[in-house]
Amino acid sequence: MKLRVCHRTYVCTACRVARRAEGSWPSELRCASCREPLWNLGSKWRIPAKTNDKGWRELAEKVAVDRVTHAEQMRQRGTDILRWLDIKIRKLEEQNRRGRHAKQLGELYKRRMKVVADHFPDQG
Ligand SMILES: [Zn+2]
Repeated sequence: MKLRVCHRTYVCTACRVARRAEGSWPSELRCASCREPLWNLGSKWRIPAKTNDKGWRELAEKVAVDRVTHAEQMRQRGTDILRWLDIKIRKLEEQNRRGRHAKQLGELYKRRMKVVADHFPDQG
């Protein structure tokens, strides 16, 4: 079976640069000129020509709106995952009087920290 590699367009609207790369969230890619994180535009949006002021202004507005929406979605999803993880952790902690689940608990704590870091970046 062949894995389909999903390429996305990443942009920095401040520098008017775009590049294609494999899609991933959260993205670690940074702009080569200003070092700010690149924004994952998805695969359908067209990149304006470098001199197209109106095109880039519109794109910057779209990205600004998307950033807010995306952060909100990430927080909601993060809240759901944490609620579920916390129930699991609490149950295991109750069963852990003899230390039998220490390893499993340690993994859950690690996972919880990762969820917080990925979904609530401003609190990290
Ligand atoms: Zn930049």
